[in-house]
Amino acid sequence: MPTLDAATASVTGPPPVDGEPCVLLKLGEVVLKGKNRERFERRLAENVRAAVRGMAPRVEIVRRHGVMVVRAPGADEAAVERLAARITDVMGIVWAHRAWAVGKDPASVERAALALMAGRTGSFAVRSRRRDKRFPLTSSELDRTVGAAIVEAYGLPVRLSDPDHTVSIEVDRDEVFVFTGGLPGQGGLPVGMSGRALVLLSGGIDSPVAAYRMMRRGLRVDFLHFSGMPFTGPESIYKAYALVRELDRFQGGSRLFVVPFGKAQQQIKSSGADRLAVVAQRRVMLRTAELVARRLGGAALVTGDALGQVSSQTLANITALDDAVELPILRPLIGMDKTEIMDQARRIRTLSISELPDEDCCTLLAPRRAETRARIEDLRLIEKRLDVGELAERLAESAQEHRPAYAESAS
Ligand code: ATP
Ligand code: MG
Repeated sequence: MPTLDAATASVTGPPPVDGEPCVLLKLGEVVLKGKNRERFERRLAENVRAAVRGMAPRVEIVRRHGVMVVRAPGADEAAVERLAARITDVMGIVWAHRAWAVGKDPASVERAALALMAGRTGSFAVRSRRRDKRFPLTSSELDRTVGAAIVEAYGLPVRLSDPDHTVSIEVDRDEVFVFTGGLPGQGGLPVGMSGRALVLLSGGIDSPVAAYRMMRRGLRVDFLHFSGMPFTGPESIYKAYALVRELDRFQGGSRLFVVPFGKAQQQIKSSGADRLAVVAQRRVMLRTAELVARRLGGAALVTGDALGQVSSQTLANITALDDAVELPILRPLIGMDKTEIMDQARRIRTLSISELPDEDCCTLLAPRRAETRARIEDLRLIEKRLDVGELAERLAESAQEHRPAYAESAS
C-alpha cells in the first residue's frame, strides 16, 4: 500500500488520483417509495441535465439506490466544481458532493483521500459506508487504514466527534466515491413532479418567496404581474422581470405574463368600491389569473398572502378572495412572520430586487381606510356594475409574454 512521509508529501504533493472527478447527489424525501420514488428520480435527472446544459461537453447521470452520480467525461476538476455549485439550485437535492470516483481497491481509495486532505490543517475523521458488501475491507477497517495513511502523510490528529474535516468513503457497485464536505441543496421535490401553477407576482418581497416555496414542493410555475400602466412607469415590470430571472435558476424555462392594469383600477375606483377597492381589485386579479392559468394548463394559483400582514389579508378578506375563483389558491406564506419571509428572500437572492423602488399599481387606488371585513355580497354588487367577467377576459387577452432566463453570469 503506498504511503508517504510528511516531508515527501509537502514537496511533491500527494500521488495523482487514479479516478475521475464527479458530483455525488444525496436526494431528499426519503419517505417516497416505489412508483413515486421512480418518478422523483427520473424527473430529477431530467432537471439536473437541463440545469447544466452547456456547462460541459458531455454529462452523464447515473441513478443508484438513493444517490445520483453526475459525471462529465473529459471535464477538469474546476469544471466539475462549477457543475456541483449549479446543481445545488435543482429542487430535490439535499447535498451535492464534489467527489472522486475511484476503482474498488483500498490503494485507490487511499490516494484519493490523501489528495483531498493535502494542504489542510486541523483534525479529521474518516467515515466509510458500503453499499456493496463485497469490498475486501469492512467499513471500520477502511476507516482505520485510510485514517492511518492521512496521519502518516500529514501528521493531522484524528477526532471522531466534531472533526474539522470528514473524509467520506462510499463503496458502490462499480466504484468507490471519496469526498470531503459538500454543498447543501434546496431539498424538496423536483420541479414538475407536482404539476403546474400560476404565481401572482407583485414587485414585493412576499410573492417571490411564495413562488420559491411552491417550486420546492415540485410545482412548475408561470408568473403573472399586473402593472399600473399606462398610469405608472414600467419600473414594476423591470422588477418582475428581474425577480423571475433570479427564480428561474430553480426551474428553467420560466414565463412571465404582464398585464397593464391601470385602466381597470380606474374603473374599480369609479365603480364606488371605496373601502372595498383593494379586495375588489384583488378579486379582478384572481379572476384574470384563473383565465391565464387555464390557458397554460395550470391547476392552482399561488399568492404571497400571510395572515394579518396587511388589511387585505384578514381571514374575512381571504375568504372573500377565495370566493372569486374556482381554482385553489395556494398561500405558502400564510403562517410566516415577515422577518422569516425576509430571511428566506435574502437566501434566494430576491430581497434586494424586491427592495428597489417602484410605483406599485396598488398604491394607485388605496383608500384611506381599507375594509378588513369585506362582505362577499357587497363585492358581487360592485362586480356586477363592472361587468367583471368581461373585464377579466379583456385583461387576460392583453397579457404580454416574456421569457426571463437565468444566466450564470448575471448573478
Ligand atoms: P408582496 O410582497 O408579494 O407584494 P404584500 O404583502 O405587499 O405582498 P399585497 O400587496 O396585499 O401584499 O399582495 C398580496 C398578494 O397579491 C401578493 O403576494 C401577490 O401574490 C398578489 N399581488 C399583489 N399585487 C400584485 C400585482 N401587482 N401583480 C401580481 N400579483 C399581485
Ligand atoms: Mg405588494
